[in-house]
Formats: sequence, structure tokens, C-alpha cells
Amino acid sequence: MKSVSICHRINNYYHLLDIAMAKLPIIQLPDPVLRQQAEEITEINGELQRLINDMAETMYAAPGLGLAANQVGVLQRLIVLDVAHRDGAKDLKVILNPCIKAGEGQAVREEGCLSVADFSAEVRRHARVTVSGLDREGKPLEISGEGLLAVVLQHEIDHLDGILFIDHIGRLKRGLYLRRLKKLAARGQ
Ligand SMILES: [Zn+2]
Repeated sequence: MKSVSICHRINNYYHLLDIAMAKLPIIQLPDPVLRQQAEEITEINGELQRLINDMAETMYAAPGLGLAANQVGVLQRLIVLDVAHRDGAKDLKVILNPCIKAGEGQAVREEGCLSVADFSAEVRRHARVTVSGLDREGKPLEISGEGLLAVVLQHEIDHLDGILFIDHIGRLKRGLYLRRLKKLAARGQ
């Protein structure tokens, strides 16, 4: 594992990068990058820290509760989320190479997505999940959650495998939405 000094150096580095955060364009359905599998992250470097900062900035500005790297056109296994910021306080979670280790129960909740314009639907998922991965410094982490946190974790991890929340709803409903999207695209909206 990485020594403390390396972590410290990375820390200082991304404090500098905080100054230069940028909002990124959010990729929209039907862009194929949303349907591709993201790759494991094997190197923690300054470029990655900048991407994390930019993704967080983009998510807060949207505003959204979570964002996966596919949604900004980067095929790396990285998600950012914050289910608390609606209440004012920020609680940014950054997970590299996230993996659902355990899921229990079932819950249905209304979902939307920053990459799926003008649509929301009820989705059935695990009610409670445990996710493992790495933090932004490459240290192993584990997050267990239920309610909104469990939904956002599952929704964002799906993105890394090219899966969208509309894949979890009925075919009829999905078909109706996709046809509406095509019509809008044809009209140049
Ligand atoms: Zn989404």
C-alpha cells in the first residue's frame, strides 16, 4: 500500500487543484458512452484528482445527488455522490472501483438521472447495500447504506456497467420514453 508521505503529497496537490475546478458537460442519452463498461482505476494521480473535483463541481451545480464518470465521458470506475447536500451541509463521497458486496431487501423509489432528460420512474432495488472500493487517495473503504444512499449507490454503480435506471423499468414505459426522446431529437430540442 501507499506510504503516508505519498498520501500527504497527493493531499497537498489536490488542494491546489481545488482552485481550478471546472464544470463538465453532462453526456445525455442516447450517447453510446453511457452504454459502455468503465475500466478499473489502477493509478491515483493529479489528473484523477482533478477529474474528481470537476465531477463533484458538476454534480453540485446540476444539481444532482450522484455522478458517474461515464456521464462526463470518462470510462473509469469512479463515482461521486452526496445525498446530504439537499439539507445544506456537504457530505461528498468519492468511490473508486466501487463494488456492491452485499444487498438486502427490496425498495421502490422514484428515480431520475442527469443523463436522462425530462423523465423519472419508480425503480425497484435493494433496500440496503454494502459497497466496497477505494477513496480518492487509494485507501480501501466500505460504505453501508439504506434509503436514498442505497438508491444512489446502486444507480451510480450501474452507470459504470453501462446500465441506466430506465433498464429497470417495464419495456413498455421505456419504449414510450425512448420514442419521445427520438421525436425531441428530430425536432432539434
Ligand atoms: Zn444517472
